Amino acid sequence: MRIKVDSEKCQGHNRCFVLAAELFELDEYGYATATDEGKVSPDLEDQARLAIENCPERAIEIVSEDD
Ligand code: SF4
Repeated sequence: MRIKVDSEKCQGHNRCFVLAAELFELDEYGYATATDEGKVSPDLEDQARLAIENCPERAIEIVSEDD
């Protein structure tokens, strides 16, 4: 799976990072980007989906299910 954070939508709530610290990094203002160019290993896919569901801005998207 591959994900990305839409920087226009992200408001820096940090929830994604709290729920899936391996998959997101935050800048100094708390805005998130996906680590490793968004690549999610199979064992972290559940965490990725949890973060997607819990982002208040719906800023996290699945770019590809089978990448
Ligand atoms: S939870 Fe959503 S809005 Fe908040 S930092 Fe993560 S991607 Fe951005």
